[in-house]
Amino acid sequence: MPRLPPMPRLDWSDPKAPRAEAFDDVYYSRRGGLDEAEAVFLAGCGLPEVWKNRDHFALCELGFGTGLNILAAWRAWKSSKRPHAQLHISTIEAFPLARADAARALAAFPEISELSQRLLGQWPVRAYAPQRLWFPEDGLSLTVFIGEAETILAGLTGQFDAWFLDGFAPARNPGMWSLASLAHIARLSAPGARVASFTVAGEVRRSLRAAGFVVEKKPGFGAKRERLEAILETPTPEAPSIYPYAPSHPKRVAVLGAGIAGAACAQALARRGVEAIVLEAASALGAGASGNPAALVMPRLDRGGVLKDFYLAAYLHAVATYEALGVFERCGVAEIGEDDAALTDLLADPPLPEAWFSALSENTALHARAGLVRPGAAIEKMLSGATLMCEAPVTALERAGEGWVLRAPDGRALLKADAVVLACGSALSQFAAAQFLPIALSRGQIEWGAGAAPAHALVRGSYVAPFDGGVLFGATFDKSASDSAAVADGASRTRNLAALVGLAPDIAASVNADALQSRAAIRVTTPDFAPIAGLLPDAHAWLAQYADLAHGRKIETDAMSPAHAGVYVIGGLGARGLTLAPLLGEIIASEMYAEPPLLPQIARDAIHPARFLHRALKRR
Ligand code: SAM
Repeated sequence: MPRLPPMPRLDWSDPKAPRAEAFDDVYYSRRGGLDEAEAVFLAGCGLPEVWKNRDHFALCELGFGTGLNILAAWRAWKSSKRPHAQLHISTIEAFPLARADAARALAAFPEISELSQRLLGQWPVRAYAPQRLWFPEDGLSLTVFIGEAETILAGLTGQFDAWFLDGFAPARNPGMWSLASLAHIARLSAPGARVASFTVAGEVRRSLRAAGFVVEKKPGFGAKRERLEAILETPTPEAPSIYPYAPSHPKRVAVLGAGIAGAACAQALARRGVEAIVLEAASALGAGASGNPAALVMPRLDRGGVLKDFYLAAYLHAVATYEALGVFERCGVAEIGEDDAALTDLLADPPLPEAWFSALSENTALHARAGLVRPGAAIEKMLSGATLMCEAPVTALERAGEGWVLRAPDGRALLKADAVVLACGSALSQFAAAQFLPIALSRGQIEWGAGAAPAHALVRGSYVAPFDGGVLFGATFDKSASDSAAVADGASRTRNLAALVGLAPDIAASVNADALQSRAAIRVTTPDFAPIAGLLPDAHAWLAQYADLAHGRKIETDAMSPAHAGVYVIGGLGARGLTLAPLLGEIIASEMYAEPPLLPQIARDAIHPARFLHRALKRR
């Protein structure tokens, strides 16, 4: 399978409704796509009445297409929602439309042009990466999964309240309506979940019934005699996960650490209208690695592995986040391949469209949309919806009722919160409950100053980027025993300069080594190089509950996975903090409120803090 999702071939002979050539079917009714969306999909799911009294509602669509159904749902949501309510829409699309095609189709609906423009402004990138778009003013999130419906559904967990089934006609597109897909829909449905579709094909009705839905035919829209409504009567119980994911629904969240990880969590909470208080031990922002003057935001492109799509998604989310905040310097990054053929292979079969990733030469890729971010500026903007408390070192958490009291080293209570996010880098190991996490410290030094700025940043192991009319380059990567090693030194500068000579001799010759500035910082790494994000397991209780895993036995218990209720960790971001933090912050906030998933469960588990306990047991 190519790494880039296929684009549909469209026939525009009827300007009111594009037709997909491969399926010989229209995206929506020629008699009025917006009216059809309301009559078939919204009414079919009992909307807007069903969500009127809900604070959270989760809707999933199969077949995103032009986005018209989503826009119809958005319009109805805006006019019927409770003030603080949130609608989470997920949608799956195997053949993503180009933005220009969607714009052309949506131009036929001037009555929703304001919403269409907002959707087109964040139109998803054609890549196999889940993408979450936010419209916080309307309490709406939209998660676009690009891929084949059955495969995407099979990878997800969670619960949706309503479903729009809008693949092309089952006779022309049986894959979208497979028995397996409909069984996954039942598995992913909340009790009483509703399903709406334009088709009443016998196969579809039978499969939905077999999956536990009660199915009805209703009078159809336009030329169609009938449409389908279904409601879930017999939910399929899902086996509990052995990693803790229990939501905590906090009203007030304390985030420990005002680095990029903490700031990303605070931003994700603020867009949900949640009170976030960020406590920073230092007297001002910019203490740790986030205090570097700038850092690159660029993708880690893997050719395989469960986190391949996650890394792609994180990069897209980071670029979108920093661009929206106005803190992104899009200089582009030229990545020169190492000795293996990985980059050449990626260039031959790219995972991103050309505007994002293209060949500069056989073994050099241009990430045209990558660039530089000044963490200080980004963090400040991300914290704009939160309260920041500096000189507030927290060294102990104490359970108090349903929440936590945060204590300073002298025992003073600093704050009480319903949930806590440990985003404190190497200080994570101060907390007894987090000491099982096998994090390591790595010292990194960078240099910056006058020099011949390259057109794009250059990367091959080390990097050099255009910065303030000069250059910024580095970085060293040295194992470190403690935080106190974060002082810049001449030996590291010598190594950085030597690396620059190897990477870009002309630039190295233009640099006056004596006039450079340096900064060293500590990064936190993990043994598997993946970050850590999620609810903190209660290590002792977890190991006892799942001891059978050590003996290769199956886990029979239905008990919840033991956790420190409401305590989350985000860390181990290594040298990729700026690229990974925005998506990880979003994932943590999303899980606090049991929102629909953003990642396939297998990827989600691969960054969960409990994975280390799991591996330790399996090794026994
Ligand atoms: N809801 C869309 C709108 O508002 O424009 C129209 C949906 S159109 C009838 C069907 C959509 O399903 C197309 O965009 C098509 O590419 C997508 N599709 C078809 N087969 C699919 C599959 N197996 N998995 C995911 N999407 C699929």
